[in-house]
Amino acid sequence: MIRIEHLSKKFGDLTVLKDITTDIKTGEVVSIIGPSGTGKSTLLRCLNLLEMPSGGSIYINGVDILDKNTDVAKIRQKMNMVFQSFNLFSHLSVMENLTLGPIKLKGMSKPAAQAKALELLRLVGLAEKAGNYPDELSGGQQQRVAIARCLAMEPEIILFDEPTSALDPTMIREVLAVIHRLAREGMTMAIVTHEMDFARNVSNRVLYMDEGLIYEEGAPEQIFEHPQKAKTRAFINRILSYTRRISSPDYDLYAMNAEIEAFCEKQILPKQTRNDLLLVVEELLQIYKPYLRTAVLDMTITYSEKTERLELICESTGEQANPLESERLTDDLGLMIIRNLTESIDYRWIDGKNRLQFLIKTNRP
Ligand code: ADP
Ligand code: MG
Repeated sequence: MIRIEHLSKKFGDLTVLKDITTDIKTGEVVSIIGPSGTGKSTLLRCLNLLEMPSGGSIYINGVDILDKNTDVAKIRQKMNMVFQSFNLFSHLSVMENLTLGPIKLKGMSKPAAQAKALELLRLVGLAEKAGNYPDELSGGQQQRVAIARCLAMEPEIILFDEPTSALDPTMIREVLAVIHRLAREGMTMAIVTHEMDFARNVSNRVLYMDEGLIYEEGAPEQIFEHPQKAKTRAFINRILSYTRRISSPDYDLYAMNAEIEAFCEKQILPKQTRNDLLLVVEELLQIYKPYLRTAVLDMTITYSEKTERLELICESTGEQANPLESERLTDDLGLMIIRNLTESIDYRWIDGKNRLQFLIKTNRP
C-alpha cells in the first residue's frame, strides 16, 4: 500500500532521516521504536506531508505523492495522524469535532456525518460523551475521541505518534485497548510508541530507528527477543529492564525510588505491586548495608507483561555467601517481609558474584 524509497529529510544542516526504505502493506500494523531524537516523528510527518521530504519517494498504491500535482489535503485524509497531545478543537463539542472534517472536507451531509460519528464514538466507548466538550473529558477519553475523529475521515492508514505518552497508566491502557481493537479489525497502522509490550503484542512488524535509518526491522519476536544488532539490543535491554549500581552506603535512595516508580509506571504495574517492589528493595538495601562499604551491588528489575513475571536480581561482589543467610538475620523482620512479598528466592554463586533472584508476587489482593 505504501512504499517508501530512499527517503531523506534535512533541517538546515541537520540530517534527520538519512535513507529510509520500507513498505507498509494493507492491514499491517507496524511499530516504530527507538531512542528519542532519531527521527521517528519526522518520518510520520513526512509520510502525510506535514514536512516536505528532502529526497526520495513515497508511493501510495503506486502513486508518487511527492509529485507537484498531489492534492495534499487528500493525502492527509488517506494517512490521518493521531498526535501525543490529542489536538482536539476545544471550542467544539465531541460530536462537532468528529463531524467537522467529514462535512467540510468530504462533503458529507450533517445527519450522515452525525450518524457515522455516533457509530465511531461507540467503537471507542464514548457515545455518551457526544455532547461534551474536550476539557470535560479525561486525557484518555480525549485521545479516544481523537482516534474516532481520525477514523471519521476514513483513512487508509492511521499514523500514531506516541499516542499514550501524555497519559497516566490507567488511561494508557484504555487507549491501547482501542488501538488493539482497530488492529483486530484490520486497520493499517504505523505506531511510534515507547510501550514495548504493546508494540510486541499489536504489531506484525517492528522498525527500530537509530541514526536516521531503519537500523533493524523484523517480526516482534525477533526485535524484542533476538535483536541482531548491538544498538537494538542495548535499546531493548534498557527499556525492558531497570538497572542500578550501588557502590556505597550513601547511595541516593530517593532518586533510586523515583526511578523504580518510573519504570513501574512504564510497565503499567498496579500500585500494589509497585509498592511491594519498593518495599522489597528497601528491606534488601537494609540487609545489604553492611556489605556496601566494600562490595558493589547491581540491582536489576525486569518485567514481562506476557508472563507477568516481575523479577529483582541482586548481584554483589565479595566473598561467596548468601546475604540472606547471614547470622545477623535470624528473626529479622525485613527478611520476613521480603519472603512474604515474593514467590521465590533463588541464590547462586555465578561468575564470582553472589546472585539473588527474587520473583515478586504480582497478583496479591
Ligand atoms: P523522535 O520523534 O524520534 O524523537 P524527531 O523526529 O522529533 O525525533 O526529531 C529528530 C531530530 O530532528 C531532532 O534532533 C529534532 O530536534 C529535529 N527536528 C525535528 N523537527 C524539526 C524542525 N521542524 N526544525 C528543525 N529541527 C527539527
Ligand atoms: Mg517524536
